[in-house]
Amino acid sequence: MISHADYLSEKDTVPMLISFVVPCYNEEESLPLFYDEACRVANVLRQQSHAEAEFIFVDDGSGDKTLEKLRALHAKDERVHYISFSRNFGKEAGLYAGLKAAKGDYVATLDADLQDPPSLIPEMLQFLLDCVATRRKTRKGEPPIRSFFAKMFYRIINKMSGTEIVDGARDFRFMTRKFVDAVLSLSEYNRFSKGIFSWVGFKTHWISYENIERAAGKTKWNFWSLFKYSIEGIAGFSTVPLALSSFLGVFCCLIAFIGIIVVVVRALLFGDPVAGWPSMISIMLLIGGLQLFCIGIVGEYLSKTYTEVKHRPLYLTKETDGEDRRFTPSANV
Ligand code: UDP
Ligand code: MG
Repeated sequence: MISHADYLSEKDTVPMLISFVVPCYNEEESLPLFYDEACRVANVLRQQSHAEAEFIFVDDGSGDKTLEKLRALHAKDERVHYISFSRNFGKEAGLYAGLKAAKGDYVATLDADLQDPPSLIPEMLQFLLDCVATRRKTRKGEPPIRSFFAKMFYRIINKMSGTEIVDGARDFRFMTRKFVDAVLSLSEYNRFSKGIFSWVGFKTHWISYENIERAAGKTKWNFWSLFKYSIEGIAGFSTVPLALSSFLGVFCCLIAFIGIIVVVVRALLFGDPVAGWPSMISIMLLIGGLQLFCIGIVGEYLSKTYTEVKHRPLYLTKETDGEDRRFTPSANV
């Protein structure tokens, strides 16, 4: 394998630029810790690979002092750039905005809470592939109920979707410009990055590491937001639920058909005693429930189509570090 140092000596010496893209939502406590660690890694990169770094922070409508912290960082370090959204648009929008703003030859996406250790980046750089992705070896430190549902989700989505969604994969990635441009070419509104990263293809090398606890602050995900996120993933990368609802419909018709034959034959043979009111109600409720469930599935896809065709921007900008052209006011323009 060629290391970057060899590559550079072969190719000459324009320093390459590595962008760190960091979505931040209420991360005032983690930010200083992250910045110190990122600067340390940037020094390592400079020494080992003659690479320069830039830091793109995306403030996702934080209600705490995240934005103030970013302003201060930008004032003291010109490698720091930031964009602040008008409200909370979600991590996926943050990632998109950050990737759009990144000018690096290589781009790393990582969380602000140091759960994605920046110290892995020099190692990732050695691979010279289109993408180096990370996954957790175990879910140690996570509440068991969250792990259980996460495992179920990965099992279900991988059965339903042709796009592989790797269990335990983090959004911590190291990508070439080519890969980033491919990801940006998918400007869909309902973004599920884990799926998009896989869908675009290219060669990806996986690195595993032990789960790391948050450096400071609290997780922004609760059960409901994770549930919505998983539905986003399934609806975004599979249409199997639609086929499943048709299948359920056909299955119920078959059962009903057999039932009708049984009732008719029984009436002909034994007369027609009025009986079975409770079972009738139960069956009606069951069929009604199934119908609503299937309509719900169709509705889910319809709502996704609806939000897609409205072509609303993925995010709106409140403030940037003032650097021209880097940050476009909205995403899909
Ligand atoms: N985040 C964000 N917008 C949100 C929620 C989270 O930009 O609406 C950022 C957050 O600041 C962090 C990263 O996404 O840098 C991952 O969030 P978190 O650590 O809360 O998730 P977890 O690691 O618990 O899955
Ligand atoms: Mg985290």
